[in-house]
Amino acid sequence: MYIIKRIAFFLCTGLFAAPVFAIDLLRDSDVEHAFTELSRPVLQAAGLTPKGIRILLLDDKKPNAFIIDNQHIFISSGLVLSTDNAEMFQAIIAHEAAHIAHGHVTRRMQNMLVGRNASAFGLVLALMTGAVSGNHELSLPLAIGAASSSRGVLLSHTRAEESAADHAAMRYLARSNIDGKGMIEVLDLFIDQDNLTASRQDPYLRTHPSSRDRKQALQALVKTNVTTPTNRKDAYWHERAVGKISAFLREPEWTLMRADNAKNSDIRHLRRAVAFSRQGKVSSALEEMDKAQALRPKDPYLQELKAELLMRNKHFAQSVKEYSKAVSMNPHNALALSGYGRALLANKQTTKALSVLKKAREIDFRNTRLLRDLAITYSQLGKNNMAALVTAERYALTGNIKDAIIHARRASKGLPNGSAAWQRAQDVLDMKKPE
Ligand SMILES: [Zn+2]
Repeated sequence: MYIIKRIAFFLCTGLFAAPVFAIDLLRDSDVEHAFTELSRPVLQAAGLTPKGIRILLLDDKKPNAFIIDNQHIFISSGLVLSTDNAEMFQAIIAHEAAHIAHGHVTRRMQNMLVGRNASAFGLVLALMTGAVSGNHELSLPLAIGAASSSRGVLLSHTRAEESAADHAAMRYLARSNIDGKGMIEVLDLFIDQDNLTASRQDPYLRTHPSSRDRKQALQALVKTNVTTPTNRKDAYWHERAVGKISAFLREPEWTLMRADNAKNSDIRHLRRAVAFSRQGKVSSALEEMDKAQALRPKDPYLQELKAELLMRNKHFAQSVKEYSKAVSMNPHNALALSGYGRALLANKQTTKALSVLKKAREIDFRNTRLLRDLAITYSQLGKNNMAALVTAERYALTGNIKDAIIHARRASKGLPNGSAAWQRAQDVLDMKKPE
């Protein structure tokens, strides 16, 4: 699991793309896979294609979930860690899925996604990675809770849309045989949050329903006398996602004291392995990983974690070996590929690193860490124009247009006129703001 800092969102005015705000993402293929497993029934019930929608984890302690387009649902680590059961998580997804299914993605949200040209790099404008400096006055919206910021207004839904999404979410949950009480428990979380924050003077809050009102509207729909038992697989993936996220975010000592609380023994071992690794106790971490893998020998995410923990503790050669296994178990996993490339680079296998990192980039370009590694690799191989191009793209993704232009100019001068790489440099240069 690693943090990708400050993914910038761009508002396209028609003339140029201006970065409007940025978020930090926590990327982990295991957690994202768990989210996929948990969300599938709900998304299907909403009439959406589960494969077409990615659930991404925000590095944010505040409880928060929102959409910006029809392909991504963002949920904060604070909110995921506040869910006590799979049903709560699924209720949040059901609500956001309802916004998508009902076409609540607004023009202003769409404007943030569409580049002003249809070039390859224009598509990259969709979701950009990196630093937008000085935008601290904008804070994140609480699409399911409440928001009090300009960003909140930018991404907010109307009162009617919120109510429609809540009711549709309850239908999706019922259709998927998931207990609707999870939704009430989520709204209880937000009622606590509302009480902590927010004067009702805030223009956003005045036009939006309070969590208490929303709970009241839904309570009649929840049959208190009937309990739907939790699906065992859902319970597993929820425990795994929450267990892994908290093992990475909380103090290792906290995790080790509570590792036994996990109902599934492989998750107990996984949690201990992460905690030991963070304490620098590599052999204890590997012992725990062996025990976890003995229980789930075909699990590619456990294999990837083993490689990652070795990398974190600077055992580069061993990490390369384990990553190579992880990648062969799951060849199209961009995060595993980027980890493998990083390990190869650290282990001075630069040529191999280049081909692996390029493959990772083809699958997922929204990864500034990967672009940084790729630039280092190009420069170590003496390909300075390509290093400049990738650096330009990384800056562009971060919303730092000024430095992006400087590097794109350098790349453009050195690359063969009209080549694909040269065209990519032109795409960055096209982002230049009008004087
Ligand atoms: Zn909503």
